[in-house]
Amino acid sequence: MSLALYRKYRPSVFADVIGQEHVTVPLSNALESGRTHHAYLFSGPRGCGKTSSARIMARSLNCEKGPTPNPCGDCQSCKDLVANGPGSLDVIELDAATHGLVDDARDLRDKAFFAPVQSRYKIYIIDEAHQLGPGAANALLKVVEEPPAHVIFIFATTEPDKLIATIRSRTHHYPFRLVPPGTLAAHLEKVCNSEGVKVDKGVIPLVVRASGGSVRDALSVLGQLLAGAGKDGVSYEIAIQLLGFTDGALLDDAIDAIAAHDGATLFKTIDRVIESGHDPRRFTSDMLERIRDLMIVDALKDSTSNSILRDMPDDQMERMRNQANRIGTANLSRAADIAAEGLTQMRGATAPRLILELICGRILLPIGDNTEAGMLSRIERLERAENIAPLTTSSRSSETRTAELKESTNSAHSVSDVTLSKAEEVKTTTPTKDSAPVTTPKVPGNFDIAALRRAWPDVIEDVKKRRRLTWSLLSASAQVLSVDESAITIGIVNAGAKESFERSESDVILRNAFIDVVGLDRKIAVVVDPSIDTNTPAARETRTSEAPGDAVLLSGAALLAKELGAKIVEGK
Ligand SMILES: [Zn+2]
Repeated sequence: MSLALYRKYRPSVFADVIGQEHVTVPLSNALESGRTHHAYLFSGPRGCGKTSSARIMARSLNCEKGPTPNPCGDCQSCKDLVANGPGSLDVIELDAATHGLVDDARDLRDKAFFAPVQSRYKIYIIDEAHQLGPGAANALLKVVEEPPAHVIFIFATTEPDKLIATIRSRTHHYPFRLVPPGTLAAHLEKVCNSEGVKVDKGVIPLVVRASGGSVRDALSVLGQLLAGAGKDGVSYEIAIQLLGFTDGALLDDAIDAIAAHDGATLFKTIDRVIESGHDPRRFTSDMLERIRDLMIVDALKDSTSNSILRDMPDDQMERMRNQANRIGTANLSRAADIAAEGLTQMRGATAPRLILELICGRILLPIGDNTEAGMLSRIERLERAENIAPLTTSSRSSETRTAELKESTNSAHSVSDVTLSKAEEVKTTTPTKDSAPVTTPKVPGNFDIAALRRAWPDVIEDVKKRRRLTWSLLSASAQVLSVDESAITIGIVNAGAKESFERSESDVILRNAFIDVVGLDRKIAVVVDPSIDTNTPAARETRTSEAPGDAVLLSGAALLAKELGAKIVEGK
């Protein structure tokens, strides 16, 4: 690749400028109708087409058949001003960043009055215009105020507010913007096609994110990836390594663990993040982005979210829909707050890993937080716990869970896999106030619940081949809750589905599917886990209008507080 991609794909006409239609369309119309102005200001972030557009504007103005938005491409001026062409004597580019431009500005002031050498207009493109010193600006002002008919100025700047007001007020201002991800992705795909290099699905979205919406940055990152492409093109793994992004599998494991309130797996995942050399800050920021994506998925449901997160591979989309459902709106919003706050704390922190672990602990354990979001997510969790077992045992079940979370928060580095409370236990234990020993069974640690959850879609596919009924009971409404030496516990959405599952002896089918797909032979235990799909806005609305109010709010908080031996804030 001899030429950098961003130079090679630099546009020569407005129609080829990416993602700036709000600017290029009115400019094209002005050229078409001949209502051009003598001074323009192109502002906007770096790398989104200001300078290229200034050159295109000059080319369009000076085409022999112009001014026209569609320069002919055949005349001398068009050839001179084509992207990466030799340039024209009548189009003068000055970079205010290199020096104050004082001398150049005086020179310009003197020469501007001479007619153009061979074209219609003498066009000055002044880049980084906000860096014009006062001397240079004043020298220019004279010409900008009363320009000869053949002179046109195009100022380009990232900081239009810093351009002196007397000049700015004489320009037509066109603000350029960062390019939306969808538009940028489509452009990058085109570039890959014309370069003849295959890239794995998922690579382009990584490039788009790395570029932050700048076409120039995106093409420069892509250029680096393409340069290192092997026979089979650019693989997702190579892109991850080069761009330093968090491995999606780690992110999925972390989010799955949060969804399952599974502290042990979550902290193990953090350990893997650090062990594999990922930067904790980067991981936190990726996690925050994922939570944001999940909020979008949660808000839009189904197909509509696909048009916003269109760069997601389909299987990833499906996984995220599932995750969003299980975590719930209130918990997502709260997790986002915690992650964002933690990210700020990480700036300059000497122990970012510690902060990452604290973030995860807080996401798992919403207590001592009397904000509305904190309350809401506590209620969500209590409702889930209550729905797992009858009222008398519900506090026991959430106690077991809470104790487990507490434990995993305390001993982040030595946790082993811990199962959620098993169904049998919930039935036999009764809550006692102080003395109830936490009997959460411990497991040697060789059961990777995250791996099991990853394999779940394949298990379901296998079930489908065995028995359609079992498949239909599981496919949209079940999840893996835990695994230990004796059983794999499956959460199923409601009591009816659980009953059908048991009556139809579907556990044998599922057990065999697990043996086939994962090679793990375990008894199947089933519990009702309504958290799987009770988080639709409609369902929540019904709940809110039927039930709670302050009383429930308080009792919910008090219950959790009692369990943790914490003090509830008085009042309210
Ligand atoms: Zn031409």
